[in-house]
Amino acid sequence: MDLGLSGRTAIVCAASKGLGKASALSLAREGVTVFITARTESVLNDAANDIASETGATVTPVVGDITTPRGRADVLAACPNPDILVNNAGGPPLGNFRTFEPQDWLDAVNANMISAIELIKATVDGMIDRKFGRIVNITSAAVRQPIAELCLSNAARTGLTGFVAGLSRETVKYNVTINNILPGMHETDRLISNLTNRAERESRPYEEVFAAVAATVPAGRFGLASEFGDACAFLCSANAGFITGQNLLLDGGNYKGTM
Ligand code: NAP
Repeated sequence: MDLGLSGRTAIVCAASKGLGKASALSLAREGVTVFITARTESVLNDAANDIASETGATVTPVVGDITTPRGRADVLAACPNPDILVNNAGGPPLGNFRTFEPQDWLDAVNANMISAIELIKATVDGMIDRKFGRIVNITSAAVRQPIAELCLSNAARTGLTGFVAGLSRETVKYNVTINNILPGMHETDRLISNLTNRAERESRPYEEVFAAVAATVPAGRFGLASEFGDACAFLCSANAGFITGQNLLLDGGNYKGTM
């Protein structure tokens, strides 16, 4: 299927690894010029080179912390008028809410809600003027099925989801869509480091913990970043203009509800 994206430009945040990188790669494969961000320069440059050599697309790395005004200003200076915006940032720490202070909540809301809203604010009116825009926010399955120790994530990402629910119905008549993708467990560095910590805590071999957790997913495995990236590219495609305000759960069947 031709996604009709050749010649478009995209900002993909937090994209030197994992789900962000995979989203940038899938878009680049469709002929999109991509601007990718992350904080660690060497890893970001390697990711840009990987994506460019695999796809032939132009890939510009912009080093910075996307949760800061400076990080956002730098990527917007490099790409002021993106056709596509993929919002992403690292997730907040795990923990019991009794141990968190107000600043922990403010940090989570800043990283996983306000940063995305600020980038949407900076780009959505240009998309409306040009009558094309695709915004995808990478959130979490925890928005649909909260996990107690991910309380910072549950709360901050649900705030973004509520914001998107309202705005996405205003922008769609201009062919500007805003959707969220909710990843369940995907095999990325983040998941691998969580499983490594767990194996150490429980004094069990890593492979055993990996297999046991993967077996809890109805699919019998973790998601692949490439599967996530292709779903993101589809939501950005020319023919996805009637899909807006949706929360697409990619979790291998882990959520057990009917809808
Ligand atoms: P990952 O493999 O650890 O990759 C995270 C990427 O984000 C890296 O490129 C990292 O580079 C960049 N990054 C982190 N904080 C950043 C910041 N403040 N500014 C700019 N770039 C930043 O993580 P992932 O698994 O792809 O997860 C992506 C998002 O999905 C996270 O919010 C995560 O909580 C959420 N999620 C993931 C899963 C899963 O199973 N993988 C499940 C549910 C939700 P630098 O560190 O160099 O900046």
